[in-house]
Amino acid sequence: MRYAILADIHANLAAFEAVLADIEAQGGADEVWCLGDIVGYGPDPAECIRLLKKHCSVCVAGNHDLGAAGKIDLSYFNAAAVAACRWTAGRLGPLEKRYIEDLPLTLRKGDFFLAHGSPAEPAMEYITSTGIAARNFSYFETPYCLVGHTHEPLAFKQIGNNCTSITLSPNIGLVLGAHRMIINPGGVGQPRDGDPRASYAIYDSEGSMLRLHRVPYDINATQDRMVQAGLPMTLVSRLQEGR
Ligand code: ZN
Repeated sequence: MRYAILADIHANLAAFEAVLADIEAQGGADEVWCLGDIVGYGPDPAECIRLLKKHCSVCVAGNHDLGAAGKIDLSYFNAAAVAACRWTAGRLGPLEKRYIEDLPLTLRKGDFFLAHGSPAEPAMEYITSTGIAARNFSYFETPYCLVGHTHEPLAFKQIGNNCTSITLSPNIGLVLGAHRMIINPGGVGQPRDGDPRASYAIYDSEGSMLRLHRVPYDINATQDRMVQAGLPMTLVSRLQEGR
């Protein structure tokens, strides 16, 4: 079985469509999983939710999904995120709103535990260090955990009481073996690792191999739509910087 693992689409339809086309170009996937933040920041929230419902069978809620659904306190967000969140909420029809309202915070799929931020704090915590990752291994029971939220492709491997980090790159496959891991496929719609190309991963259970993919997309098209929508310029400019 082949699983495409996507996170942080952030209403960036051009990036999402490019990733879906790339999944097909890579030989397709039996299932597409999403780790949350379908909306927020970007210009096409309703279209992205509709496309996700069509292609993705498994999805957990991200903090921006919960924000747009009115399910969390926006005081945790910075000013640009709050502005984008309010704008997003006004763009969703009843069906899209219900879809994000009903998303679970975590899910278990076979050997994988899925959460947007972390197993300990699914909506909010960023796993940015080996220390945070090490503490989180006790919050799930499966061999592996998939997270998003930081928009940086990175894996953490538990070795005894220690934890090491592994930067994911398209050139090197990651074999999921005996050691437990927390894996982040990077962000589709707003990458933050300095590479502006959309990021996602494909896991092939035959060979237990996870591989990162980076996909160029029409960044200018998304930026033009953000400007037209009056979304904050800081959110527009960061797309081409990949930060
Ligand atoms: Zn995000």
